[in-house]
Amino acid sequence: MKKALINVDYTVDFVAEDGKLTCGEPGRAIEGEIVRLTEEFIAAGDYVVFAIDRHEEGDSFHPENKLFPPHNLAGTPGMELYGDLRKVFEAHREDPNVHYMNKTRYSAFAGTDLEIKLRERSITEIHLVGVCTDICVLHTAVDAYNKGFAIVIHKNAVASFNPAGHEWALGHFSNTLGAKVV
Ligand code: ZN
Repeated sequence: MKKALINVDYTVDFVAEDGKLTCGEPGRAIEGEIVRLTEEFIAAGDYVVFAIDRHEEGDSFHPENKLFPPHNLAGTPGMELYGDLRKVFEAHREDPNVHYMNKTRYSAFAGTDLEIKLRERSITEIHLVGVCTDICVLHTAVDAYNKGFAIVIHKNAVASFNPAGHEWALGHFSNTLGAKVV
């Protein structure tokens, strides 16, 4: 079974103390595990995707406008990958198996070519890491389920600002989406 690692939204705005929409300490606590897994997948030659939220300033049509403060605005430091994950990405950005892509919705599959990238590589199992467990990771996992991908969630490499939402999502991944939560 060919697999891919999907890194979801581990950016300054979602993780840093002064991030625009930060997960806070739980987000920063998973940095080591995200970095370790990313390096492990890269070293194994597996496909590694960075699926990163990107919003345009003043986009009045975007539904998140009514829900969240502006975040991950194009060209701002808040959109950069956070901490050592940025260093790993910079060191490997030219690798053929490393793919950086933007998304504008919670799910990394919504309005992107992620599914095509995975299918053309015959990838059938996706591993998810990043933030937030109960928002972008969850919506990406739901789409992956509906598209027939096997799903693995690395519970020490996902985080949320909402502890109850985090716990609920971990249960939902295994009980409803048939994911392996490891
Ligand atoms: Zn967003």
